[in-house]
Amino acid sequence: MRIEIINTGSELLLGTTLNTHGAWMGLELLDLGMRVERQVTVPDGDAIISALEEAMGRSDAVIVTGGIGPTSDDISREAAAQVLGVDLIYDEAALRSLEAFFEALGKPMAEANKKQALNPVGADILPNPHGTAPGIYAPPRMSGDRLCALFLLPGPPSEMKPMFRAEVLPRLRSLGGVEGDYQMELLRFTGIGESDFHAQIDVELEKINDLEVGYCARPSEVDLRLIGSQSAISQGKEIALASFSEECFSIDGEDLEAVVVRLLTEQGKKLALAESCTGGRIASRVTDVSGSSAVFTHGFTTYADEAKISMLDIPSELLKSHGAVSEEVALAMAEGALIKSGADIAASVTGIAGPTGGTDDKPVGTVWIAIATTEKSFAVQRCYKRGRELFKQMTSQTALNLLRKSLS
Ligand code: AMP
Ligand code: MG
Repeated sequence: MRIEIINTGSELLLGTTLNTHGAWMGLELLDLGMRVERQVTVPDGDAIISALEEAMGRSDAVIVTGGIGPTSDDISREAAAQVLGVDLIYDEAALRSLEAFFEALGKPMAEANKKQALNPVGADILPNPHGTAPGIYAPPRMSGDRLCALFLLPGPPSEMKPMFRAEVLPRLRSLGGVEGDYQMELLRFTGIGESDFHAQIDVELEKINDLEVGYCARPSEVDLRLIGSQSAISQGKEIALASFSEECFSIDGEDLEAVVVRLLTEQGKKLALAESCTGGRIASRVTDVSGSSAVFTHGFTTYADEAKISMLDIPSELLKSHGAVSEEVALAMAEGALIKSGADIAASVTGIAGPTGGTDDKPVGTVWIAIATTEKSFAVQRCYKRGRELFKQMTSQTALNLLRKSLS
């Protein structure tokens, strides 16, 4: 079944509102084995008419979001009637439920809201228990030879989502039947790049029948997307993990920080952090995870030398002789954090985010990352010369990955 989404709203194109509907619907449909073929975004106003003409000409189902409110720029309803070649008439039941909605609020209904009860002749009204704008469903026969089902849904996510689940999904299922048994699984890797996959496993993955393979590269991360039957996915997974099991931190979409918190929780261990160049980014990521309060005790943000000395007991001679960005200081920071907090494991980072502050032997991007446990400590050096934001993201990713590996 070819499904197309049309998102209406000038705010989506101006960039003031993030268009989240497409992504959300894509996942909801995938759960049912259906795929979105195309997603189009149009501004408020007449653009919806040509978008509808085009989409209904090539698709089996078109889902429109937004533009069914009471204001003059909300014209999805009028556009649909025009494209279907039918009139709009007041739906008595919809009008009554609109009146009831306002009565419950204790407010009089504005005249403008009345147009929300207008319905293209022959179409079904989709009830909206969470707002004023009812949705509309025009079954395939209404579009003549095109045989395309049309749904109009409200823009506010709190109204669109329940209506999509209650009214759209069941109709799509019965229209198209649920296709195949295919599913999607997301494997997340860090410490390797897309080119490594290309060099080592792409050819083998391509040999698997009916497996769709996709990659998404992010800073210090590659996501491998496998879509297909459960058995095709299992084969793909096996091949990927045979080459990159150490680099794979998640086989179910879990975030790296969530993996670290989970491992700490499972092992009943406490974590402390000593951050210089990341300014608390790692602590922030850890505390994004629900349940982190049970395992994360201290986050020392020791940006200045004085802070490293007073908070972590780093000897000032060590800072003088090796510099703040050095293996020795990174190790001393992690060990200091461990002692000061009484935690079981600590990570530290110290580096040069840039763009200034680099030298010949310590260029911009240089960073030392150390891990300390009660048994041992070690440090690694990396260079991320990618601007401050990416530097912090990549450094925090590497530190979290070292924690993950130490705990695994
Ligand atoms: P509308 O029904 O077009 O008046 O939409 C009303 C509200 O829903 C506004 O706050 C919009 O920003 C929001 N909205 C509409 N479309 C989307 C979308 N595709 N993604 C996220 N929010 C949206
Ligand atoms: Mg709008």
